[in-house]
Amino acid sequence: MTETALHRHIVVVGASLAGTRTVQGLRALGHSGPITLIGAEDELPYDRPPLSKNLLNGAWSESSVDGIRLVTRAELDELGVELRLGSAAVGLDTAARRVRLADGTSVPYDALVIATGAAARPSPWRPPSGVYQLRTLDDSRTIAAQLALGEPVVVVGGGFIGTEIAAAAVGHGCPVTVVDPLPEPMTRLVGPEIAGSLVELHRRNGVRTRFGTGVVAIEGKAGELTVELDSGERLSAAAAVVGIGSVPSTDWLAGTGLELDNGVVTDRFLRASGADDVYAIGDVARWPHPGRGADVRAEHWTNAGDQARYVATALTRGVEAGYEPTDYVWSDQYDWKVNACGRHDPAGSSTVIGDLRAGSRAAVIHTDAQGVACGAVTVNWVRALNQARRLLSVGASGDSVVDAVRQLA
Ligand SMILES: Cc1cc2nc3c(=O)[nH]c(=O)nc-3n(C[C@H](O)[C@H](O)[C@H](O)COP(=O)(O)OP(=O)(O)OC[C@H]3O[C@@H](n4cnc5c(N)ncnc54)[C@H](O)[C@@H]3O)c2cc1C
Repeated sequence: MTETALHRHIVVVGASLAGTRTVQGLRALGHSGPITLIGAEDELPYDRPPLSKNLLNGAWSESSVDGIRLVTRAELDELGVELRLGSAAVGLDTAARRVRLADGTSVPYDALVIATGAAARPSPWRPPSGVYQLRTLDDSRTIAAQLALGEPVVVVGGGFIGTEIAAAAVGHGCPVTVVDPLPEPMTRLVGPEIAGSLVELHRRNGVRTRFGTGVVAIEGKAGELTVELDSGERLSAAAAVVGIGSVPSTDWLAGTGLELDNGVVTDRFLRASGADDVYAIGDVARWPHPGRGADVRAEHWTNAGDQARYVATALTRGVEAGYEPTDYVWSDQYDWKVNACGRHDPAGSSTVIGDLRAGSRAAVIHTDAQGVACGAVTVNWVRALNQARRLLSVGASGDSVVDAVRQLA
């Protein structure tokens, strides 16, 4: 990297985890040129995982919101970062190297980092009121106020976020039903063993489940909704929370020459395909995963931070190797802290260590069809996860990971 690279104007679009960690990383690594951080929300950058956990289950109050800020305005001032909040990027001219904003202004760049994340996949069911979705701090506040009423709730979507919302609703005393068209919605995320135990956990806490059946319609209004399932069943609820995945925030990049395909497509150095000096990171990026032999768009907190650090390094010092993901995710459900790394291979095998039904600490080690350890999921047992993660990173066999984790028991 030349000295001049450190003086370039770097513009980061998306002021959340990936964007914030990028600007902090740039300064920490000696970037001395101007940095502009652009965010659509009129909020200082904040962390999203608590939105479906402590902020929703009543454990935290409004005064706790400061605790989820990723950075303060004073810190950004000290870093010399120009912060443009409340004005979304609406266009990009890669030839002129300018980002156009909703307020009519445009910002020139020498290098651009796209970190616009994702939005909740819009609900196909839109009665006049009573249907909620969760992605932002405002969404979380609105849903928390609804749950605090203790009225019946239908959660559509049995993934991590849907089930965390269900657990929070139970905590508020709401009768809760979770609906998902998949027979075992969490299997894809954590494998069948933990997925099954999580469903049991929810049922023990009073959650009703309707899996293997989809929603056909949601009618009525707040306080008196009817959720119609394709099984013919009709559920009455005061509110419905729809958590059916997310869509990458790329609308503003349409027609710019960047390759868009379920995210901004990048090479293994996270350089966006279709323009020079443009990178994409975090939930919006789709990049070649070295271990999976396929392009991946990860929607995980750890990945967003890791990619930010990687791109900050690429922009200041240069990188020789492509981005190596850690594939780590977690979820809190009641008193279960679920941690997962790697993946579950349906063609491989899995070994359970500990008693998943007892709710004490337990682990599942996933092995691929070749006998190599490919993933681990733990419940209330971070030490086992860390051990497995270390061995996975060196390509250990499934048997040796199982032995190593058993020794920790
Ligand atoms: C409720 C919830 C709970 C979660 N819990 C977990 C968890 O337990 N564990 C885990 O690993 N992950 C979790 N995640 C995922 C994790 O939060 C994300 O992976 C992470 O936030 C991704 O960061 P990001 O900066 O790439 O994108 P985002 O956090 O989506 O941020 C993108 C930012 O860009 C802004 N933006 C979008 N378009 C524009 C535009 N055109 N111009 C300017 N700004 C724009 C958005 O307003 C947003 O602020 C959770 C996510 C949610 C929503």
